[in-house]
Amino acid sequence: MDELERRLHGLAQEDGAWLVRVRRDLHRHPEPAWAEYRTAALAAQTLEECGFAVRVGEEALLPQARPRRLSPDSVRGEQARAAGQGTAARWLERMPDGLTGLWGDLRLGAPADADGGDDDEGPLIAFRFDMDANAGIRECREADHAPAAEGFASCRDDAMHACGHDGHVAIGLGLARLLAAMRPELEARFRGRIRLIFQPAEEEGEGAPGMVAAGAVDGVSRLFGLHLSMQAGDSGTLVCGTTHFLATTNFEVFFDGRAAHAGLAPQEGRNALLAACTACTALLGIARHGEGASRINVGEMRGGEAPNAIPAHAWFRGETRGENSDINGFMMAEVRRMVQGAARMHGCTARLLCQSYCPGASSHPELTALVGRVAEEMGGFTRILPSAEFRASEDCCWFMNKVEEDGGQAVYLQLGADRPSGHHTPRFTFDESVLPRGVELLARLALASLARHEG
Ligand SMILES: [Zn+2]
Repeated sequence: MDELERRLHGLAQEDGAWLVRVRRDLHRHPEPAWAEYRTAALAAQTLEECGFAVRVGEEALLPQARPRRLSPDSVRGEQARAAGQGTAARWLERMPDGLTGLWGDLRLGAPADADGGDDDEGPLIAFRFDMDANAGIRECREADHAPAAEGFASCRDDAMHACGHDGHVAIGLGLARLLAAMRPELEARFRGRIRLIFQPAEEEGEGAPGMVAAGAVDGVSRLFGLHLSMQAGDSGTLVCGTTHFLATTNFEVFFDGRAAHAGLAPQEGRNALLAACTACTALLGIARHGEGASRINVGEMRGGEAPNAIPAHAWFRGETRGENSDINGFMMAEVRRMVQGAARMHGCTARLLCQSYCPGASSHPELTALVGRVAEEMGGFTRILPSAEFRASEDCCWFMNKVEEDGGQAVYLQLGADRPSGHHTPRFTFDESVLPRGVELLARLALASLARHEG
């Protein structure tokens, strides 16, 4: 280990208590999609203090590229809630209408030669962290659940950090502090820019497209995404590169029929609930695709008005997934056809809305190999797995695909962390002792990706 690596390791370890404090504070104050005001303000404030040039609000997230926004009432409610939880007004003002994405750039070293016509700034290396909590999950309050026992369980009943994004934000901010603390030493040896991206609304797959449209990864030569636990499982395990992210579409369908008295004149009705049920069973019978995995789910349905009236309205929502965008496209084409067929069968009409779409992606093999080499050198891992198939969806794919389209490389790594319960369950929490290791690994990956100063 050279002097720089020793410093890096020492600083990451020294920050362990700070990382735990931040993670617990975020865990106690979870914010679901498009309501991440307090989290985003903490991230922006920390990045600014660390010397990063920060972009927030419309500068970091194009409003018209968002697939969904909260109602004005919800926005006001969440802003007031965040203000009540100590979020500074100057950040809230810069994040109007749920525009809670941000990124910060740290420049290392001056451009190679300012007057010699060489304006090479060095590479732009980006890291992406998601910030949102899970809506609709009430955290366990029993004494054998560590966050409850130690007083940092969710302060609200309608959301909790059940996926580890609180840990992702803590790692991202720890990385900012580490790079800032070492800036003079780094500037003597490296040249380039490091960008830390904090993304809202991952859980519904909605946050990334607006940030990509605002230029979050324009010019990025290497992008690193990260998730705690997931397929990496236990503390000590690292998955270097994730492959087989599924493309996915979220949709909802509105069925309209005609009401009628269920006893006197049922023949005059057009049963929208029946049309929805017919469509639902048809969708679950969509043929599998011979060229790769596919999924279909109808997860929520409502319909009807009264027990003695033919239902005039029904609604459901669901999702398709596919091993690639073509297979997901096949699934959605089938959904459209069957929904319309079922509606016609029962004399109803149907309107299908796509709420969000997320493409598939895979990690770049070369960058995956770099993660493996850097992790080996760093040491401290008990198991380093070259890759794992995700078999689920992640809107980090928007960033990954854009970087690769532009000729860069992207990788999504998974850092193992012991957990007593699965992701998205009320008893989810994770082993915080892995946080410094995450910070150190990302810092090493940043250095391995920057240009070296000549001479
Ligand atoms: Zn997650």
